[in-house]
Amino acid sequence: MSKAICGIYCVKSLDTGHAYVGLSVNIHSRFKDHAKQARRGDSNVLYRAIRKYGIDRFEFSVLEECKESELAEKEAEWVEKLQSHKDGYNMTPGGNFPPARDPVIARKISVSRTGYKTPKDVCLRMSENFKAIGIRPSPEAIALAAEHNRGRPRSAETLRKISEAHKRSWRSGNRKPSSRKLKEFCPSGHPYSGANLYVSPDGARCCRTCSRMKNLQYKQKLKMERRSRRAGTGMIQTEMQL
Ligand SMILES: [Zn+2]
Repeated sequence: MSKAICGIYCVKSLDTGHAYVGLSVNIHSRFKDHAKQARRGDSNVLYRAIRKYGIDRFEFSVLEECKESELAEKEAEWVEKLQSHKDGYNMTPGGNFPPARDPVIARKISVSRTGYKTPKDVCLRMSENFKAIGIRPSPEAIALAAEHNRGRPRSAETLRKISEAHKRSWRSGNRKPSSRKLKEFCPSGHPYSGANLYVSPDGARCCRTCSRMKNLQYKQKLKMERRSRRAGTGMIQTEMQL
């Protein structure tokens, strides 16, 4: 892995001679991003041109290395020098960071997108495109999504899909044994063995101690409810004050 190069780069078409000038704190990684975005179908003159002529008809080069603080200024100079705004692939005269990196604008974008839901068909299309070019979410992204979804209610549609998937795997017979089956103790720490183990007709293992306790709690609750009903609202108030 080579060291990140911070500076100004050029992507030039060997067919049209048009250039795109860009800035990056990691130029080689940015080249890869450009290739990816072009394959993905992003709409922008450079990406359209890459798709039209093929990526091997483009020359990627480093124009100048510089400090991060000089990037904007240097970019504008190179855009001017190579005329890549007037007659090239740059959409702006340069000199600005991509708008999303400007903290004020980033905040505005964030606020405007709060509560925005990507339409279903767009999600599907994106998913197909990612699959087609073999982009898989990174383990970090998966963990982040799992964290985000934890405890969120699932829609009826999702529940139906999960249920269908379970049924399919049951029928095909290659169901993985649930991790619960491998456990020696119940979640409260009672052993799944001897007199404490109860195996229900469908094969699920239950802890008798916990079942007994849940049953007792349930009976207690019923008793309380019955009592407060009998005593009317006065009883509920007394209970709540306690
Ligand atoms: Zn237990």
